[in-house]
Amino acid sequence: MWHRAFVGLGSNIGDSRNILQGAIEHLAAHSGVRLVSVSSLYLTTPVGGVIQDDFLNQAVAIDTTLNPEELLILVQSIEADFGRERLVRWGPRTLDLDILFYGDQTVDLPHLTIPHREIPDRGFVLAPMKEIAPNLEHPVLGHSMATLYGAWVSSVKRPQDHISRLSSSCPMQAGVG
Ligand code: ATP
Ligand code: MG
Ligand code: MG
Repeated sequence: MWHRAFVGLGSNIGDSRNILQGAIEHLAAHSGVRLVSVSSLYLTTPVGGVIQDDFLNQAVAIDTTLNPEELLILVQSIEADFGRERLVRWGPRTLDLDILFYGDQTVDLPHLTIPHREIPDRGFVLAPMKEIAPNLEHPVLGHSMATLYGAWVSSVKRPQDHISRLSSSCPMQAGVG
C-alpha cells in the first residue's frame, strides 16, 4: 500500500545545494519510496532567534510503503549520512528532514507529530509546498497550502525579506554553502 507523504528539507552548513540534492537521491533510492515531485530551492532567513547563515529549503512529495515511524527512521538515517549533529535546537545544520504530511493521517507521539506542528507559521515550508501541492488540504486546519501560504504572506511585513525562490540554474548565492 503506497501513501503520499511530503518531506521538508533544510540546510545552512556546507554545500547546501549538493546536500539537499544528495538527500533527495538517498530518499528516492529506498525501495519503499518513489519520488513524485521536487520543489524549487528557496533561500530563507533563519527563524527561532539563533544568529546563523541563511538556509536553503525545499519540499518533496513521495509515495511510500513505509509507515510514519519507519519513514522517520529513514529520514533520520539520511540526516546522519550527511553528518547532522544536533547541537542547538533551531540552530545551524547540514541537513534537516522533517515529515510534513503523511496522507491525511495525524500522528501524535512523543517523538513524531504529523502534520508537522509549525507548518502554518513557516514561509520556508509553505512556499515550496504551495509550489508542488497548492490544493493539498492540511488535514487538521482544513485549509489548502495556497491558502496557508497566502495567510503567511499577509502576516509578515516584507515576505521577500524572508524567502526567495531560486531557479534551478541559479548559482549559489554568497553566504550560503
Ligand atoms: P522543528 O521540528 O521545529 O523543525 P528541528 O527540525 O530542528 O525542529 P530536529 O532536531 O530535526 O528538530 O528534531 C527534533 C525531534 O523532532 C526529532 O528527534 C524527532 O523525533 C522529532 N519529530 C517530531 N515530529 C517530527 C516530524 N514530523 N518530522 C521529523 N521529526 C519529527
Ligand atoms: Mg525542522
Ligand atoms: Mg527536524
